[in-house]
Amino acid sequence: MTDRTALQIDRKARLKLPPQRIPKQDPKERVHNWDEVYQGLDLETARLEATRCIQCPAAPCITACPIHNDIPGALLKLEQGDVIGAAEVFRETSALPEMCGRLCPQESLCEGSCVVGKVAIPVRIGRLEAYVADQQRETQGLPLPELPPFTGRRVAVVGSGPAGLVVAEELAGRGHGVKVFEAWPEPGGILRYGIPNFKMAKRLVEEKVEQLHQMGVQFAGNVRIGYDVTIDELFAQGFDAVFLGHGAGQGLHLSVPGEELPGVHMATDFLVRTNLPPDELPPHMREPVKIGRRVVVIGGGDTSMDCVRSAVRAGADQVYCVYRRTEAEMRGREEERTHAKEEGVRFIFETAPVRFIAGKDGRVRAARFQKVQLGEPDESGRPKPVPVIGSEFELAADTVVVAIGYQVERLLYQTTPGLDAADRGTLAADDYGRTSREGVFAAGDNVRGADLVVTAMADAKKAAAAIDEYLRRKDLGET
Ligand code: SF4
Repeated sequence: MTDRTALQIDRKARLKLPPQRIPKQDPKERVHNWDEVYQGLDLETARLEATRCIQCPAAPCITACPIHNDIPGALLKLEQGDVIGAAEVFRETSALPEMCGRLCPQESLCEGSCVVGKVAIPVRIGRLEAYVADQQRETQGLPLPELPPFTGRRVAVVGSGPAGLVVAEELAGRGHGVKVFEAWPEPGGILRYGIPNFKMAKRLVEEKVEQLHQMGVQFAGNVRIGYDVTIDELFAQGFDAVFLGHGAGQGLHLSVPGEELPGVHMATDFLVRTNLPPDELPPHMREPVKIGRRVVVIGGGDTSMDCVRSAVRAGADQVYCVYRRTEAEMRGREEERTHAKEEGVRFIFETAPVRFIAGKDGRVRAARFQKVQLGEPDESGRPKPVPVIGSEFELAADTVVVAIGYQVERLLYQTTPGLDAADRGTLAADDYGRTSREGVFAAGDNVRGADLVVTAMADAKKAAAAIDEYLRRKDLGET
């Protein structure tokens, strides 16, 4: 960690430095491709932006970052031109800096607490983190740590999203044998099957998986733990501990008539079919979406923005996002909504679906909606949408996507004796990921509910330390 008190920094002068422009694809161009919206930085721009960091001694950005990256330390190295050194500072605390730099909602984390942001645009920490991590990966490859001798202990990791990858890396780095089980055909979990290509290129996931392969981590796809293999069977196969990091991937239904019609998709189904090649999908999902001209996406979070923007790129002429509250209550990132608007998506607020209507061919042809007014706050603290009588209207739709949130699949605690669920349907686990079953640990969205990549990583790191301690106590005969 940098000793910022000793630094000779002219903070007033730095506060006057102009923010650098972070290049993006023009909306008119990007709607015709699936490439990332943000384009790479050049070294000079990155250094100038890093120099805007005033190296304040308190560094609230470190506290606001869930994995406590030494952001000023990394940016100091970057401004000095030491790009690899900057990447290494991020990698001291982060297994996935190139991903966090792209995916974190920085405005409510590191950048949201940046002191420069009180008087100017905050330092673009996320884009700088992505830049230095990319540079290191592209020039040197992902760093491979020196591994200790094999401890003789084996851990089954369920799920290969951010939590699973972090636990796999931490445990392999401590000499344990790790095998990762993924329900989807390919590894990556939400990073591959949930994040659209225009937010993060899939090669980042592939390179991370390759790095873990080289560290000795094994991957098995198309395995649904709790269905194909139970947790008890994993122990019977000789695993000494099991980590559950399967996330919260079950889409919530609207429960309105017509939701089962062909042409009405759940968000993940729509996203994977539009963003991934068929050979990376299970056989029943390989048929491409018949997108048509008009797409209606229901929901107001980041996943709905992913869906509307995927719909635009998949060739729809008119794409609507329908949300039952106002934009002020939307939970997703403002930047994502701005990108969607730039790409021609239209928003309809204070409107809730009533039913979906089939055409002569049996496919959805329209969605029927009702206007709502916002009333008193509900249990979420946001105003409750109250239907306006007589306000129903129809919107023609060739494709409808339901993107109203996710929950944890119940399969695992239904098929694992002694594994407790928490009240809200998530897995019950303490701060170190210890569940009610000895030797079974859990962290990430399956414990805290659908949340961020970086919070799953932070929780997973603590769980990995607890698993390591558990295995060492086992060696000593204490468990
Ligand atoms: Fe910011 Fe996320 Fe990187 Fe932390 S991990 S520094 S919150 S972008």
